[in-house]
Amino acid sequence: TSAHIIGVNVLYGTGLAFTIEERQVLGIHGLLPARVKSQEEQVQLCKLSIERYEEPLNKYIYLMGLLDRNEHLFYRFLGENVAEMMPIVYTPTVGLACQKYGLIYRRPRGLFITIHDKGHVYEILKNWPETDVRAIVVTDGERILGLGDLGACGMGIPVGKLALYTALAGIKPHQCLPITLDVGTNTQTLLDDPLYIGLRQKRVRGAEYDEFIQEFMDAVVRRFGQNCLIQFEDFGNANAFRLLEMYRGKYCTFNDDIQGTAAVAVAGLLASLRVTCKKLSENTIVFQGAGEAALGIAELCVMAMKAEGTSEADARARVWMVDSKGLIVKDRPEGGLNKHKERFAQARAPVRSLAEVVDIAKPSVLIGAAAIGGAFTPEILRRMGEFNDKPVIFALSNPTSKAECTAEAAYSNTDDRAIFASGSPFPEYRTKDGRVLRPGQGNNSYIFPGLALGIICAGIIDITDDFMLLAAESLAGMVSDSDLSHGGLYPPLAQIQDCSVRIAKKIVEHAYKTGKASVQPQPLDTEAFIRAQMYDVRYNSAVPPVYSWPRDGPRVD
Ligand code: NAP
Ligand code: MN
Repeated sequence: TSAHIIGVNVLYGTGLAFTIEERQVLGIHGLLPARVKSQEEQVQLCKLSIERYEEPLNKYIYLMGLLDRNEHLFYRFLGENVAEMMPIVYTPTVGLACQKYGLIYRRPRGLFITIHDKGHVYEILKNWPETDVRAIVVTDGERILGLGDLGACGMGIPVGKLALYTALAGIKPHQCLPITLDVGTNTQTLLDDPLYIGLRQKRVRGAEYDEFIQEFMDAVVRRFGQNCLIQFEDFGNANAFRLLEMYRGKYCTFNDDIQGTAAVAVAGLLASLRVTCKKLSENTIVFQGAGEAALGIAELCVMAMKAEGTSEADARARVWMVDSKGLIVKDRPEGGLNKHKERFAQARAPVRSLAEVVDIAKPSVLIGAAAIGGAFTPEILRRMGEFNDKPVIFALSNPTSKAECTAEAAYSNTDDRAIFASGSPFPEYRTKDGRVLRPGQGNNSYIFPGLALGIICAGIIDITDDFMLLAAESLAGMVSDSDLSHGGLYPPLAQIQDCSVRIAKKIVEHAYKTGKASVQPQPLDTEAFIRAQMYDVRYNSAVPPVYSWPRDGPRVD
């Protein structure tokens, strides 16, 4: 029956790749046309199919449909076409998908736990059909990319991130669980939207919110164990910092917006030093933004400068941060500096605009993470070009519309001398003297999948910042001279799976060296140990192996 074949397809998802033998044994022979395809041929068909869609959102819907139908094929296709597919399952298209989540919602994927379920979180976790969950990506939807509060529509982010866990680091799909904590949304257009899929109420805050999150953390440990990784993703600023501080060291957790971003950005900076021939501590860094991303990067920069032998005070003095009120200075008249910002407060008179700060600080590195599109004006970029032979410019805000400047603007306003990286991808650029530059994407996906793989394999619970710096250093070490000569600060996206395994390897080795690994004994061959745990995109045989017992063997009766 068709229900039967749908059942078989959902189970094995193999479609025309079922062999004739499998079709016969499964009792679906004749329900498929005669043609038997290899998985390679199916990947080709995926490529043809997706290229027929012009709108990125339709490509996204196609990909999610493929994931529903045929998991192995989805991950193989994604893994073999990272550069083309990453902008679909991740920034920028995933942002659009979240904005339209009510429209494109087809099928449940991940868990929605609402504030009304407080007191019953563990029971909801028990409803998830898989028991061996090793990694959770959780959001409360308050700060989705640079798009703001999307409430329950933020689910696209944990789903997309975990798809990358599997595609880029081979973490098995059944070990991954996307979760949205629905505590309401403050976005009025969503509350008014008949298609909105979440709770129709304003965000719950304060003690009730905190108790809910605490219950969630404990329920995860109770259900999936202390080693289950909980990646926090796209929480609003205040909660992100607070929860990280509260839970790090006690639960197996990290915040990708703070720590993952820090690692990928510092990796780019470390790679840029090979072009500028400087030490990190010889740079002056100006940040536009002093939020999760910027403060995370700034703190890891300080750690990296200290590793070069610089004092903490000297390192902090080299970092200038601009938030919505201007340069962060001691004794700011408006007050309101949180303790994270205070650590970077310069002892100076207040300065209002980014342009003025750039003029005063004369930075060698300018990093944008304030989600203010176009904040790096041509004038600011030109000034960077005047102060520096090779100005380093990172426009990290996502999605593309929020980028501080385009790659083209960074190059064309600095006589093609800028060293540029961005959060969302930009096309190749041809310089005036005919060189082709491929601007690097400071994409968190270079870090978090490999980091998570290492954490899971070694059973690391206390994810300290030395792991982040280590991940940054190992990523920077994978950038080739040829990447650098083409303007890239990261390895090509096509190599990202190798990056993941190499990062995981460093993480695992470091964990054993520092006594942070809970999986014992230490494996003799780290890489083989890691690879043995990774997902295989090839199909499993749909029929069990068949063999006979020897005629003269031991009797069974
Ligand atoms: P966040 O915590 O909300 O921080 C935003 C920061 O921008 C705040 O410090 C805010 O100032 C500041 N800001 C707002 N308006 C400003 C203005 N006009 N001038 C100067 N600063 C202003 O957000 P986040 O998590 O850091 O994320 C920010 C952006 O970075 C997002 O677009 C996100 O997608 C992107 N991001 C990129 C990557 C990546 O590329 N790898 C990774 C993570 C995040 P106040 O503190 O005064 O409010
Ligand atoms: Mn994020």
